[in-house]
Amino acid sequence: MIAVQDIHKSYGALDVIKGVSFDVAKGEVVCIIGPSGSGKSTILRCINGLETYSRGAILVEGVKVDTTAPSITAIRTQVSMVFQRFNLFPHRTVLENVMEGPVYVKRVPRAEARDEAAAILDKVGLGSKLDVHPAQLSGGQQQRVAIARALAMRPKAILFDEPTSALDPELVGEVLAVMRDVAAEGMTMVVVTHEMEFARAVANRVLFLESGTIIEQGPPQEVLRNPQHPRTQDFLHRVI
Ligand code: ADP
Ligand code: MG
Repeated sequence: MIAVQDIHKSYGALDVIKGVSFDVAKGEVVCIIGPSGSGKSTILRCINGLETYSRGAILVEGVKVDTTAPSITAIRTQVSMVFQRFNLFPHRTVLENVMEGPVYVKRVPRAEARDEAAAILDKVGLGSKLDVHPAQLSGGQQQRVAIARALAMRPKAILFDEPTSALDPELVGEVLAVMRDVAAEGMTMVVVTHEMEFARAVANRVLFLESGTIIEQGPPQEVLRNPQHPRTQDFLHRVI
C-alpha cells in the first residue's frame, strides 16, 4: 500500500530524514516511535504530500508521491491524516465537519454524505452530538470527530500524528479505543505515538526513529519488550 524508499529531507543545512525505508501492507498498522525532533511528523507529511522530500521515493499503491504532479490531489484524498490538534472547523457542526470533505472534495451528493457522516459518527460514539459545535465537546470527543472526518473520505490509509498527545490523560483511552476499532476493520494505518500499550496491542510493526534514521524495527513484542539497540532501550526506559 505504502512504500517509503530511501527518502531524505533537509531544512536548509539541517538533515532531518537521512535515508528512511519501510513498507506498509494493506491492513497493516505500523507505529513510529522515537524522541521529539527525530523526524516522525516529517515522514508522515511526506507520505501524504504535505512536504517534499529530496531523494528516494514514496509510492502509494504504486503511484509516486510527487507534490508537483497532478496525481498528488488524488493521493491527498486517499491518504487521510489525523493531527495532534484536531483542526476542526469551529463554526461548523460536528456533522458538517465530517461531511465537508466528501461533499467539497469528492463531490458526494449532500444527502448521501450526511447519511454516511451520521453513520460514521455513530460508530465513533458521537451519534448524539451531530448538531453541536466542536467547542462544546471534550478534547477526546473532538479527536473522535477528526477520526470520523478522516474515515468519511473512505481513505486507503490513515496517518495519525500523536493523536492523543494533546489530550488530558483521562480522555486518551476513548480515542485509542476508536483507533483500535478502525484497525480491527482492516484500515491501513501509520501511527506516530508515545502510547506504548497501544503499539504493543495493535501494531503489526514498530519503527524506532532517531535523528532521521530508523535504528530498530520489528514486531512490538521484539522492539518494545526486548529492544536490541541501546538508544531504543534508553528511550523506552524513559517513556514507560
Ligand atoms: P518529530 O515529529 O519526530 O518531533 P519533526 O519531523 O517535527 O520531528 O522534526 C524533525 C526536525 O526537523 C526537527 O529538528 C525540527 O526542528 C525540524 N523541522 C521540522 N519542520 C521544520 C520546518 N518547517 N523548518 C525547519 N525545520 C523544521
Ligand atoms: Mg511530531
